[in-house]
Amino acid sequence: MKRSVSEALFEKSKTYFPGGVNSPVRAFKSVDGSPLFIKKGDGAMIWDEDDNAFIDFCCSWGPLILGHNNPSVYQHIVDALGNGSSFGAPTRLENELAELILSNNPFIDKIRFTSSGTEAVMSAIRVARGYTGRDKIVKFEGCYHGHADALLVKAGSGLVTFGNTSSAGVPVAFANETLVLPLNDAEALRKCFEEYGDQIACVIIEPIPANNGLLLQEKDFLLLLREICTQYGALLFFDEVISGFRVAFAGAAELYDIAPDIVSYGKIIGGGLPVGAYGAKKEIMACVAPEGPVYQAGTLSGNPVAMAAGIAQLQELIKPGFYQDQERRTHLFTDKINAHAKAKGYAFELVTIGSIFWISFDNSKHIRKSEEINPDMTGFKHLHSALLNKGVYLGPSGYEVGFISAAHTDELLNKAADLFIAALDEIMA
Ligand SMILES: *Cc1c(COP(=O)(O)O)cnc(C)c1O
Repeated sequence: MKRSVSEALFEKSKTYFPGGVNSPVRAFKSVDGSPLFIKKGDGAMIWDEDDNAFIDFCCSWGPLILGHNNPSVYQHIVDALGNGSSFGAPTRLENELAELILSNNPFIDKIRFTSSGTEAVMSAIRVARGYTGRDKIVKFEGCYHGHADALLVKAGSGLVTFGNTSSAGVPVAFANETLVLPLNDAEALRKCFEEYGDQIACVIIEPIPANNGLLLQEKDFLLLLREICTQYGALLFFDEVISGFRVAFAGAAELYDIAPDIVSYGKIIGGGLPVGAYGAKKEIMACVAPEGPVYQAGTLSGNPVAMAAGIAQLQELIKPGFYQDQERRTHLFTDKINAHAKAKGYAFELVTIGSIFWISFDNSKHIRKSEEINPDMTGFKHLHSALLNKGVYLGPSGYEVGFISAAHTDELLNKAADLFIAALDEIMA
């Protein structure tokens, strides 16, 4: 595979940006070679600057659930842009996107649009603190919630721990307000609330943890979380930046039928443009400025072009059967590969939910906690290279999940599964 144009662009970009990129995982640090610079996407395909074509399973890390360059999303963007790109004043399009979301989501009454998932989560944490008058938050090891200070925190030692910062530049004082627990661990959760229950503003979780492997939680654990939060007056915060509009229109809350108190969205909600959002019941959202005392704002929040893209995308998702068909096609792909791996006796499995899949080089058990993930990523590294050479693009990290879009047809997925199987046989040989 020719990569010389991408390589030259990367040499240049290293002189402009730290590590040559504007978001760390893009730098290909945990796989072979240097990043491919992408020139174009259409449907389920992308092309790099060397004109190599790939079947894309990264889909911009989730937002592109309709694939690249979807005709309706494209047209809505062009139409909105014709009227101007930003006003810093309310527009009809914000109402339209809000109406589309709220009338199809029983868990939230009001919403606030932001420009990224990080911003949505950070703001919603402030709302939870403002609403409860409490400072501490609980997060789970292995969940990612964007890069706000309070959430760049990892577990210390012991069952219930105050977090250690997971990034330089995060004040220890911030980390001290974040308690970090293992996922799917009822005992640790109970103990934490027995000790700190009356100080906890909210418990934040990815109800489908998909940023560090795909750590599917037992429903009973999520139910216990709901029960304990209610008992202690803490808010249950579902960070649905990945799972929202992905596993069902109203996300994991709808799939599991568990009502969170506060929710964040991102990725899919903006149709490929930068949008995040948080929402809750009326009483909680009444805290947000200018209605209430919790300050939160944004120059480009509710940007009309981004709203238009979100409207176009979400209109497709509410069509009957959309999610069933996504899941059917995902299984077409993953079942074929898994059957082959099993027949060959490989320690390998594609773990899946909805139209998300994760490549696990371990088929021994359900992995529900981050420490259960096999830390040896050489298998993934080899598979990633072999797949690139065969024209299949995966996100460049074994901890990240893959996504299937509506543009991934049966035919294309069948072909991709065959390429995947060939790559797997090659690296297992
Ligand atoms: C991607 C993600 C975020 C951060 O969103 P950005 O738009 O990258 O800031 C937060 N939470 C979850 C669960 C995510 O997957």
